[in-house]
Amino acid sequence: MKETIIGIDLGTTNSLAAMVFEDGPEAIGRVGENPIIPSVLSKTKEGWIVGKGALPYRLSAPDQTVYSIKRLMGLDFEELEEDRKDLPFEIVKAQRQLVKVRLGGQEYTPQELSAEILKKVKQEAEDILGFSVQKAVITVPAYFDDAQRQATRDAGKIAGLEVVRIINEPTAAAIAYGLDEKKEGYIAVYDLGGGTFDVSILKISGKIFKVVATCGNTHLGGDDFDYALGSTLKAAVQQKYPQADLNDSISQQTFKQIAESLKIELSSSLEADYHIEIPEKSIFFQGKLTVAEFESLIRNILDETLVSCQKALDDSHVTTQDIEEIVLVGGSTRIPCVRKCVEQFFKRTPHVAIDPYKVVAIGAAIQGHLLAGGRRDFLLLDVIPLSLGIETLGGTFSKIIMQNTTIPTEASELFTTHVDQQTSIDINIYQGERELVKDCRKLGQFKLRGIPPMKAGLPLAEVTLHVDANGILTVSALEKRSEQKAEIEIIPFHGLTQYEIDQIVEDSFEHALDDFNERQLIEFRNTVESVFKGIEQFWATAETILTPSQQESIRKQMSVVEKFSKGNDAQALKAQMDILGDLTRPLADASIGNAVLSELQKPSPSSSS
Ligand code: ADP
Ligand code: MG
Repeated sequence: MKETIIGIDLGTTNSLAAMVFEDGPEAIGRVGENPIIPSVLSKTKEGWIVGKGALPYRLSAPDQTVYSIKRLMGLDFEELEEDRKDLPFEIVKAQRQLVKVRLGGQEYTPQELSAEILKKVKQEAEDILGFSVQKAVITVPAYFDDAQRQATRDAGKIAGLEVVRIINEPTAAAIAYGLDEKKEGYIAVYDLGGGTFDVSILKISGKIFKVVATCGNTHLGGDDFDYALGSTLKAAVQQKYPQADLNDSISQQTFKQIAESLKIELSSSLEADYHIEIPEKSIFFQGKLTVAEFESLIRNILDETLVSCQKALDDSHVTTQDIEEIVLVGGSTRIPCVRKCVEQFFKRTPHVAIDPYKVVAIGAAIQGHLLAGGRRDFLLLDVIPLSLGIETLGGTFSKIIMQNTTIPTEASELFTTHVDQQTSIDINIYQGERELVKDCRKLGQFKLRGIPPMKAGLPLAEVTLHVDANGILTVSALEKRSEQKAEIEIIPFHGLTQYEIDQIVEDSFEHALDDFNERQLIEFRNTVESVFKGIEQFWATAETILTPSQQESIRKQMSVVEKFSKGNDAQALKAQMDILGDLTRPLADASIGNAVLSELQKPSPSSSS
């Protein structure tokens, strides 16, 4: 068997391992669990706690808990002046101008602390893969100097890894997209993470990458978005509670946390509700934020990143026209407006198909695979691995683009309302293979507003799903009578591994029969409700055209249908509905009843008013 060389993205906030499996490169993680390992470690009586488990210690034991250790790697005391102020753990001077971190009376080098993170990454990978991992390619920022690279190598060695190669993060990202196969040209890699931003201009010639310029700000990123948003939330709360002191650490932490989750929600919906509760201060606040409001809050920060992009171009003596490919890296590039900004600046669509959280580790894994003598014979996603669609009445999943469709692709379907005078329609977007949305994965949502009040069934909402060659899904909804329109952009396959996709498909086979019955039940029950409504509406007509005994049979059959619609057998319900259908045929044939009863048969998205 060929030896395995894994790829490791040793990040400031998060770390991740990946490798090339039989069907391609993938992050190493457990099904259903986030494969990302926070780069946080805490010293406890029982030893080191590393990763997710260490996160709570940031609050409960701040002087025993280390994060952002990457900022200290290979730097000397003077160079770290700014970080020393920000970081809550104790940083001390060591020999040869280097630094150590003092925790519980003991001193550790940044290499030793990074090694604990790498040990955790190695251990997790081995547990998941079931074999031991010896070799790795580790990534570092392009601006790391020799001392910082050497420190990273040493950390790997301390962790028991043979560091086969250190490669630049932007280079790894370019490799993930197969850009090492290009003969020559310039590539821009835009990396916006949690606390750092950098943009690199790479030049490729003959499969060799050269970093020609790198520019950025090591203290700019998603945290700043959280801060800007948190301040806005705080101001809103302060207005309602002018007396409250909101400057203590609990309040600050609350605003930061709510801001971050709100920010993430707004990457897949056009607006989001939020609740702020600080019970100790009797503060209960709720509000709503739109994407447009969020975008205006972060606009200045984004402009700052574009200034760096321009500087990187100038330093490389090239213009945007010379840049042939753009790659996005880092969690914050999941924000649609970040993507749009970069696209507008470079006047070219960036590569985004690979999860920006994973792209560096995946590139490192491919590099490791190639170094181990592996071949590059895997393809990037070019079909849609899971069906895409929206939620319809009663929680059913209405697929619009089917699994295995080749991208780019587009499909539309017409939906209508279920409730009279409904002025908005909720569009909830899902992916999956099951019949009910509760068994599928939610991708995003928005409301189509401003529909003039009409009878149920009259509005015609055309929902269009478009997936471009880059894997970006645009969902738009157009109400045809009022021309109201809304749309959203999402990337459906971020955050899902190939294993999870396989699992989802497998589950759908296993549940196919049950799901089918359950879906039919919901659909039949909806029809029953509509038909009952229709019958009541036209009962006056019924009384003029039907004999009393015909009327009575309808009433009787209605109660039978009602009983069956409370049961669990879709086919039995259908049989009773058919009998009711026969009995009401004379009524449906009366011209006016006919129109309504048939209009009521159309599927409709989940209701809202
Ligand atoms: P780093 O390179 O600093 O380790 P990451 O690339 O891990 O950072 O990115 C972390 C940042 O990405 C955090 O600020 C987080 O809030 C942000 N983030 C993650 N997912 C989303 C999302 N869906 N929308 C917006 N921001 C996100
Ligand atoms: Mg990063």
